[in-house]
Amino acid sequence: MTDNQPEPCYFCDKLARLDDLPDEEVVWIFPHSVALLGPWQYYQGYCILIARRHVTELSQLGHAERHAYFEEMCVLARAIEAAFKPRKMNYELLGNQVPHLHWHLFPRRSDDPDMLKPVWLSLEHAERDEAWRHRLQGRSQATETTARIREAVVFPGT
Ligand SMILES: [Zn+2]
Repeated sequence: MTDNQPEPCYFCDKLARLDDLPDEEVVWIFPHSVALLGPWQYYQGYCILIARRHVTELSQLGHAERHAYFEEMCVLARAIEAAFKPRKMNYELLGNQVPHLHWHLFPRRSDDPDMLKPVWLSLEHAERDEAWRHRLQGRSQATETTARIREAVVFPGT
């Protein structure tokens, strides 16, 4: 790899072909970020909010851009809260697998038997166990889930 050929980025690639993604996967396109429906819909409404610009650390965004990104995250979070009434929202900023800046927004349901634990323990389990994977994916309602979030999106001042 040379400087002229940056390493391929999973999210940059995805953002470049949003039109090709299934409609229910693209929840909302904000000015500074894009919300995609997450692959683990046991946490119904789980979204991934990806920065539209490729940076790998929150600190690499300028002040105004970071502020706008956080506002968009709150708009998305309020919509998820209104649609699914979670016991608690969980926010995770990791990027160990895909460094491109993105937040995971998990609405934690009150009937989750592991509700006091981080979701990643369950997700790791699902990677190894077919029955768990099937239980946690819950993608059959993806179209309805995305529609419910979109209907609940309200921008401040509107
Ligand atoms: Zn990227």
